[in-house]
Amino acid sequence: MSSNGVVFVTGGNRGIGLAIAQRFAQDGFKVAISYREQKPADDFYMVKADVTDSKSIDAAIDEIEKNLGPLEVVVINAGTNKDALAMRLEDSDMENIINTNLMGSIRVARRSVKSMIKNRKGRIIFIGSVVGMLGSPGQMVYASTKAGLIGAARSLAREVGSRGVTVNVVAPGYVDTDMTNDLDEARKDMITSSTPLGRTASASEIAGVVRFLASEDASYITGAVIPVDGGLGMGH
Ligand code: NDP
Repeated sequence: MSSNGVVFVTGGNRGIGLAIAQRFAQDGFKVAISYREQKPADDFYMVKADVTDSKSIDAAIDEIEKNLGPLEVVVINAGTNKDALAMRLEDSDMENIINTNLMGSIRVARRSVKSMIKNRKGRIIFIGSVVGMLGSPGQMVYASTKAGLIGAARSLAREVGSRGVTVNVVAPGYVDTDMTNDLDEARKDMITSSTPLGRTASASEIAGVVRFLASEDASYITGAVIPVDGGLGMGH
């Protein structure tokens, strides 16, 4: 994609999304991010949007396209989690995780693809997770949503490939962000000791791979799941 094109990162106000937005901004793209309450200090185009609300997403993308131009790259990053063992799962938590991670991602993709199809170019990048394929105790719902994104991405890739639009999934392993702050030290040690590279990832290591998928060098990659997990999920 052209390096002055429009990139939209959902949940680009913090964590992995912020690192992705910063990387595209550094490389000269016009970057728009969504946030709910907390804006970052960076100079991005910011839209307030909640991915659980279709109207909010449609309005946010309308606004970005009106002010910056048609979307060329969309990074579907916003996500949430609440660990619980299967027998203790609450309906409200299940619904919120599925509505945010799976339905929310589909809402963003559904709206974003419109102008990409019209312009016959675009890159859609979902942020999945190593646990989508590996599974993880306490993450039955979260892992289901991340596995679901693979089916979503591959279906969409087949729909829009002939229009010059690629759709891929980046599947990070453990990254130090607010989302993983709550894990106890024993669980963190268990994850790093199962990771061949023996450490967690920085958010910028995820951002670099997302940036690659948006580059001309990645023009023939679609429907792929790219692990960025230090080897944690290899073979799955
Ligand atoms: P954070 O908790 O740091 O950030 C989550 C982001 O998602 C925030 O920007 C948040 O916005 C946004 N978000 C959550 N719910 C909604 C919603 N309903 N509508 C709009 N935005 C929402 O998490 P990470 O940066 O770690 O995670 C980013 C993505 O990476 C997620 O999809 C996550 O599943 C995935 N991931 C993370 C891993 C990790 O180890 N950290 C590993 C593998 C995947 P707000 O500030 O408004 O709450």
